[in-house]
Amino acid sequence: MSIVIASDPTMTLAANAFMLMSIWKPIVLFAPFVGWAWMISTHLDKHAKRFFLGQEKWNAIHLAFGIAALVLIVALPVGGIAGFAAAFVGTLILLGLDILIFISITNKDERVPESQQMKMNMKDMAESRDAKKAAKMMGSSELTIVGANKMTIQPPQKDTPEFAVRVGAEQIVVKGYEAHASQIDILPANESTYAASYLVDGVRQAGDPIAAAEAIQMIDFWKKAAGLDTSDRRRKLTGEVSISGDSMSSATLKLNTSGSKSGMRMTMIFNPAEAVRRKVDALGLLEPQLDLLKDWANELEHTGGVVLLSAPSDNGRTTMSYSIMRLHDAYTSNIQSVEYEIEDALEGIKQIAWDSSADGPSFATTVRSTLRRDPDIVTICDLPDVETAQNIAAADLERTRVYLCLRTDAALKAIQTYVQAVGDPKLAAKGLRGVVASKLVRVLCGNCKVPYQPTPDMLKKLGLPQGKVGELFKKGGQVLVRNKPEVCSVCGGVGYSGQTGCFGVFPIGKEEKALIVEGDWNGLRAMMRKNGLPSVQQSALRKAVMGITSIEEVTRITTPPKSSSTSSKAKA
Ligand SMILES: [Zn+2]
Repeated sequence: MSIVIASDPTMTLAANAFMLMSIWKPIVLFAPFVGWAWMISTHLDKHAKRFFLGQEKWNAIHLAFGIAALVLIVALPVGGIAGFAAAFVGTLILLGLDILIFISITNKDERVPESQQMKMNMKDMAESRDAKKAAKMMGSSELTIVGANKMTIQPPQKDTPEFAVRVGAEQIVVKGYEAHASQIDILPANESTYAASYLVDGVRQAGDPIAAAEAIQMIDFWKKAAGLDTSDRRRKLTGEVSISGDSMSSATLKLNTSGSKSGMRMTMIFNPAEAVRRKVDALGLLEPQLDLLKDWANELEHTGGVVLLSAPSDNGRTTMSYSIMRLHDAYTSNIQSVEYEIEDALEGIKQIAWDSSADGPSFATTVRSTLRRDPDIVTICDLPDVETAQNIAAADLERTRVYLCLRTDAALKAIQTYVQAVGDPKLAAKGLRGVVASKLVRVLCGNCKVPYQPTPDMLKKLGLPQGKVGELFKKGGQVLVRNKPEVCSVCGGVGYSGQTGCFGVFPIGKEEKALIVEGDWNGLRAMMRKNGLPSVQQSALRKAVMGITSIEEVTRITTPPKSSSTSSKAKA
């Protein structure tokens, strides 16, 4: 920087110095804001979005810190050098603190895989990225993949592009297997990138982003392996492959692929049949609830009637309906089911997969013709339209038991949904026998869960009796090995392992029916409470008191989901 000395040197210098001060001060004060805003827009915001960390909440927090820094500048006498320095340092501290808080909180969040945690050191970030790239380049094919034609798909020659695709496609599956995921999804994140995510015990965890071209090659690889038409990038295709490897027991992978304008998507489900194969007493029902269900199954000679099975998507509705069907004797009763997709073959049960093609019968027609054949028990996998409900209500419900699955998140809501769909409360109420509502909570990892004493205030909030609850448990994720904390090897640091159902089972008798006919929902709610049978929430709380799950899980399943994540047609 040069200062031109004019005719009166002292005057000009002083003036220039003053000018410089007044221009530089705002610029210097502004600089931390530029860096901070750049950091948020290029890193923090994307990080929050990618790992589902509550993007809006974090933006509000960033904004609050930004405003605090501005207020500080306005409040301090910036004209003087001391005030200016204080404002500058204060701004740096406030904005830096915002970023530090984001990094330290999100790094502890289990939704962020360890390899994806943010590091303050940019050099570290670059190094770990390079190391990952190098590892991928050197990757090897570890899995044996058996395709649709029962033939093993041989890995291509090393150093070919096909080999790299195969390694990438395998790595995604191996990662899902290691994380105990039940499902892997690969779908477009934006124009140039795809994102993989893993469903672990009903909670979604983000995986690494994949370049779009690479992701499409991987999807095509799996499609080809399953014998699907890789040129069909739009329609929903379903296939299956078997995989096994040195570090992995053999597994069946079911593939669902489909496409839209934004790109292709693929869902891979690990061992789909096993996932729905559970005995009814392993579902998580409390004893009186299980007894009630068994009673309903055994009274069949006298009564049919509709039992509503309610659970939100991904909350084990199919598993519940399969287990309840198995309460009935398939050799002495005629049991049938109408399903979108047969997830597991049930012995002795006639499972009808609805033909969803355009020229096939509608779902409601399939249900009607099934009911006309006078089966003893029919399970219907969904209520997609009012016609289906009307066909059920019009069936001979004195004779036939119908288990109807609904994507609702509470028992009362299930009753309302069914009654409204039938359109005639009297007819709907007449055929109702009961309702079973369910949601899944994650089971605390027995190896690392952490006991704690709940405060009286906390017990009061939860509606738990004082003095009767000794200790509760929360997730750990770490264990002490020779007095040093290490990541728990059982749950991989997640703190949970497996899921269990929390149920509400309610009979619908004469009094309940009268309230339904009157449309007195508040009265019905009160009646269901009066019966003393635990609701889904109460069952979940009992499981927390028993040390099976955490209060955080109870809160997670009883807090209504944000509307953005609800999809009415999502898979059960
Ligand atoms: Zn653990």
